[in-house]
Amino acid sequence: MATRIYFDNSATTPLDPRVAESMRLLEDEGFGEASFGGSSFGKPSSLHSEGRQARALVDEGRGRVAALLAAAPAEIIFTASGTEADNLALLGVFRSGKEPGHMITSCIEHPAIMETCRFLEECGVEVTYLPVDGDGIVDPEDLARALRPNTRLVSVMAANNVVGTLQPIAELARITKEHGALFLTDAVQATGKVPLDVSRVPLYLLSMSAHKLHGPKGIGALYVRSGVRLQPVIFGGGQERGLRSATENVAGIVGFGMAAQIAKAEMAEEAARLVGLREHLLANLCEALPQAYLIGHPFKRLPGHLCLGFSGQEGEAIKLLLSLDESGVAASSGSACSAHHAGEPSHVLVAMGFDPIRARGGLRVTLGRFNTQNEVDRFVQILPGAIESLRAVASYAGFTSKGDQRCQK
Ligand code: PLP
Repeated sequence: MATRIYFDNSATTPLDPRVAESMRLLEDEGFGEASFGGSSFGKPSSLHSEGRQARALVDEGRGRVAALLAAAPAEIIFTASGTEADNLALLGVFRSGKEPGHMITSCIEHPAIMETCRFLEECGVEVTYLPVDGDGIVDPEDLARALRPNTRLVSVMAANNVVGTLQPIAELARITKEHGALFLTDAVQATGKVPLDVSRVPLYLLSMSAHKLHGPKGIGALYVRSGVRLQPVIFGGGQERGLRSATENVAGIVGFGMAAQIAKAEMAEEAARLVGLREHLLANLCEALPQAYLIGHPFKRLPGHLCLGFSGQEGEAIKLLLSLDESGVAASSGSACSAHHAGEPSHVLVAMGFDPIRARGGLRVTLGRFNTQNEVDRFVQILPGAIESLRAVASYAGFTSKGDQRCQK
């Protein structure tokens, strides 16, 4: 039986064996000497040698995550997820001022940002949601127009999880800085895949999650530029400079550190390889399926990310996913970030101008470090059969889109 093909790397990535090994050695250390040089099951805040050993591991992981962004280690605050990092950034900023004020975000943010913004609105913060163009990109001029004297924060994601589009965050951050507000980017999808350099771009806050870059689940981080005033949202023993109390997830931090180090070392080569695979997949698919069209920007996108629509079958995304799953392919719907909302129109595609039926379609195919050309070729063989098996939605069968033309070029 052919092995399964995992093309859902934007949802989560398989653990890199090198990361797994670093964490396994750590687990073993509770019972003896290993590569980290001693027992490390201790609590990093303890003063005895077990505690100090654990503290050294946390410091090493922090340094490695910081290096990925060209940040200082003290600017990295570990959290339990990307979601928590986003919440800490938004709530932490707005808990620290006297007046609620105003913030700006985009219409296509992940729920970790969107839902927190809704909560801030309930607390009296005014929120402006910037539109995006047909490729899912925010226009910097829209940001410049939306800034107000009381704008305290601008939050625009670095890369979108549904369509893979990269935002002009350097430009957006520069405009925000000139205005005197803070800029947050949710870089959960972008970290480790495209360069992010806080020494060159005026990013003040940046959220990340290890499981998106072949690291472990349950560990994320928020970059907080030195000097940014933030209030905690979790209270307790004062770990992570008082911003995120709780005993540190030492194994998770070690794994995150190793994942960050590998991503930094291999980023350029891996990005080029993934772009090659992505373009090969797209070209072959468009040849095999003339009704296929690309959603999102043709090249301002994450290296391994494709979001595809199929004219006339936009209402059938869930059936398509299940059919692919039966054929041994794990992909996901462009319409939702989780199975909880499967089949609902995507707020991202709606913002990009898709009607509600087409906004339920979209097949998200996301390639990662362990995908091969052979898997791409097998997928191109499998997909037309899966599409064939769908019942065409008659009322939309005549529909053509900008994307159709793109593929037929
Ligand atoms: N932000 C973006 C853009 C994401 O894609 C995700 C996860 O899919 C998150 C935030 C949440 O990250 P986590 O799964 O670590 O909570």
